[in-house]
Amino acid sequence: MHTRDVSSADISPADALQFLKEGNFRFVTALHQPRDLLDQMEKTKEGQTPFAAIVSCMDSRTSVELVFDQGFGAVFSIRNAGNVVGTTVLGSLEYAAAVVGVKLIVILGHTGCGAIRGAIDGVKLGHLTALLENICSPAESAGWRMVHADGTSCNAALVAQVTERNVRRGVARVLEQSPAIRALVEEEQLGIVPAVYDIATGRIRFHDTPADAPGVAPTARKRQPQGLESD
Ligand SMILES: [Zn+2]
Repeated sequence: MHTRDVSSADISPADALQFLKEGNFRFVTALHQPRDLLDQMEKTKEGQTPFAAIVSCMDSRTSVELVFDQGFGAVFSIRNAGNVVGTTVLGSLEYAAAVVGVKLIVILGHTGCGAIRGAIDGVKLGHLTALLENICSPAESAGWRMVHADGTSCNAALVAQVTERNVRRGVARVLEQSPAIRALVEEEQLGIVPAVYDIATGRIRFHDTPADAPGVAPTARKRQPQGLESD
C-alpha cells in the first residue's frame, strides 16, 4: 500500500485512482497516515503538483482531504452544492489537468445530499433555483411525481438514482464540453471517473470498471511516449 503523500510526477491515471482508493481505505479503517501539516506547508510553499482533481459537494461531511486521507498539495478540491459541473468547474478542471497536470478527475457525489433532494423536490430559492436545475429540470421532477408512487425526496431509491445519474452526467459534461480534457483522456494521460461517498460508512464507491463507465476509466497501462501506444 502506498503510504506517503504523492504528487503527479511519474504516475499514471490508474496509479492516481489506486492512491485515492487506498486513502479512503485508510480513512474507513482509522489508519490515517501521520502528517506534519506545518512541514507539508513549508514543502509546498513554492509550488504544487497535486495528482488528482476532485469535484465534490460542499456538504460539511464530505471534505475530500479527510475522506481520501490526503495532506497539503495532494489534490485539487472543487466544491459546490450538488457537485454540479458548470463553467467555473470546467475552467478549474482545465487548469488542473492542462496546466498543472493532474492524472485523475473524480466527480464525487454522496448519499443524503441536500442538493439532490432539493432538486427532486423542485426547491426554489434565489440563485439556488438555477443551480438545482442543473441536477434535474422542473419538467423532470414533475414527471417523477407522476410516474412514482412517491416522486419526492422521501423516496430513497429515487434519491440514489438521481445521485448516480448526477455524477455520471458530470463526467459526460466534462468530456463533451472540454476538448482539452477530452484530448488528455483519449491520450490516456488523464483519467476521469464518477464516484459516490456514503456518509454513513465513509466508503467511496468508484464507477471505474468498463461496464460502469465505458471509455472514461483510467487504464491499467502506464503512460507511454506519444506515438508508441499499443494495445
Ligand atoms: Zn450534497
